[in-house]
Amino acid sequence: MRNAAVTGHPIGHSKSPLIHGYWLKQHDIEGSYIAKDVPPETAESFYSSLAAHGFVGCNVTIPNKECAYNSAEKLDDAAEMIGAVNTLWLDDTGVLNGSNTDGPGFLGNMDQILPNWDNNGNKAVVLGAGGASRAIIWALLSREYTEVYIANRTMKKAEVLADHFGPNATAIKWDSLGKMLGQADFLVNTTSLGMTGQPELNIDLNNLSKSAVVTDIVYSPLQTRLLHDAAKRGNPTVDGLGMLLHQAVPGFEKWFGVRPEVTDELREMILREMGLT
Ligand code: NAP
Repeated sequence: MRNAAVTGHPIGHSKSPLIHGYWLKQHDIEGSYIAKDVPPETAESFYSSLAAHGFVGCNVTIPNKECAYNSAEKLDDAAEMIGAVNTLWLDDTGVLNGSNTDGPGFLGNMDQILPNWDNNGNKAVVLGAGGASRAIIWALLSREYTEVYIANRTMKKAEVLADHFGPNATAIKWDSLGKMLGQADFLVNTTSLGMTGQPELNIDLNNLSKSAVVTDIVYSPLQTRLLHDAAKRGNPTVDGLGMLLHQAVPGFEKWFGVRPEVTDELREMILREMGLT
């Protein structure tokens, strides 16, 4: 029996056991996926001895993603560039591999819901410069977006990210957002603004071309004000729930040997469990 887990601190809110539990049942796999509380003080020793704890791998969430990055013996390109690991697995030789699947999860969602979304032009605007923003910038730069503009409340953090990603990424002032939106082909919110319990994201979309694709990685509520306002004026929109589902795919495949699918049934089940339907 192969066992995996989502680890972090606190961990009770995680939807990952629902997602992986659904796939384990669907594929009739004799395995388990649990939520395991791993406080930061014990995280390094836990990740360095996963097998001894009975796991073939795990997901990693707040606040342990940097620790997992340091614990992994081998990193893929995404983890290397993003500087954080959310998926760990032991390979056949016992080597601890680390990946960051948030970027691929974002791409998987966009590709599934709006095929050719990235054939729309080359200018993207990213709101936010936190952990998720790094994954989204990495993802956009891996596709057709050769000009990625980052706007953040704390400008310095946007500048640090722009430096990290090189000449195709540029930090812009939040105040100049309106002007920049006039040239954007793609707009994504990666801040926590608009999430249930957080202040709303208030930006003026007037200058935005109606063909620009708009997405929000906040998925609770599913239809954020940004998505609502963008859809109302005719922009194509994609919600953020699929990113959560798609980021789980690579881990499941590594641990259990089957590449699972993100289906409407899975999406509906998670929406029900989250009380979003
Ligand atoms: P984070 O590292 O804490 O970053 C938070 C970001 O939001 C920063 O850019 C921060 O700006 C900005 N922000 C927070 N409060 C603000 C306010 N009052 N005014 C203006 N800006 C504000 O968080 P994260 O891990 O990147 O996550 C961000 C959001 O993405 C969360 O809602 C999370 O649930 C969601 N998310 C979704 C998925 C998915 O699968 N769909 C995956 C990952 C994350 P400052 O730098 O100025 O503080």
